Amino acid sequence: MSVLAADSLEGRRAGSEGSRIAGRLIAEQFELAGLEAVGDSGFFQRVPLRLVNTSSGRPRTRSLSSWAEFDSLPPAERVVETNVIGVMPGSDPELRGEYVLVTAHFDHVGIGRPVETDSIYNGADDDASGVVGLIEIARALASAPPRRTVVFAAMAGEELGLLGTRWYVDHPAVPLAATVASLNLEMIGRPDTAIGPGRAWLTGYERTSMGPEFTAAGLAVDPDPRPGQSFYERSDNIAFARIGIPAHTLSSFGLHSDYHSPDDEVERIDFDHLESVIAVAAEAVRLLADGPAPEWKPGGQP
Ligand SMILES: [Zn+2]
Repeated sequence: MSVLAADSLEGRRAGSEGSRIAGRLIAEQFELAGLEAVGDSGFFQRVPLRLVNTSSGRPRTRSLSSWAEFDSLPPAERVVETNVIGVMPGSDPELRGEYVLVTAHFDHVGIGRPVETDSIYNGADDDASGVVGLIEIARALASAPPRRTVVFAAMAGEELGLLGTRWYVDHPAVPLAATVASLNLEMIGRPDTAIGPGRAWLTGYERTSMGPEFTAAGLAVDPDPRPGQSFYERSDNIAFARIGIPAHTLSSFGLHSDYHSPDDEVERIDFDHLESVIAVAAEAVRLLADGPAPEWKPGGQP
């Protein structure tokens, strides 16, 4: 967490050197956790992007549909990002051909408008906390891998429009038709006073059987207390839900005022809380990978 959210990574904006360093750190941790690499270059899945100049003077980063399109661009407009993807093969010969996808985005918004003297938007809670969760869940499950194969994907460019996830949906590392569930970790580093410390809420809780099954198993998971904020639609899970995979985001974001500000720093992370939520998330992933595949409720799919 302290490396991912360090000032030296300059807020991990997609396309920046800080984002590249973060990606390499995550790949190294995935390898140490014993995951198998399933990107197109080891743990890295390269994502072609285009830098477009705008009248505001700040270039925008856009998604592309193919490498052929990338190759046709002038070199100055080409940017390559990477998703970081590793798998833990399932222990059950019958079920290891089915996949549970666990995601978190590792980019943040970079350097921005200074607040007092600080212009680095560290993104400790958003979403270094979720990335730490990915790594720790991989470590926690490694000693006794669950029955289905678990795919761990740290996604690039969420803040610029789900860029990494959109590429993954078109170029999946494992078949989407065999991906039975997806759990996204987003902002789990600080407790939400609406539900209390050590607990997290699930976006779109009422849409599938996933959340009720977590609750029935005694996990500290609640329905999203603020559906009006549309968090279900605001992170990487939505791209998978739209193609039919039961996909939710687990979070404990209590609308703290450091959201997308230079004050989203490591010093403001509550590590006791983060550790508890990661333990909950690890149990949730094990349940998804060992138990019945979640199903959509009538009318639940967006
Ligand atoms: Zn986020």
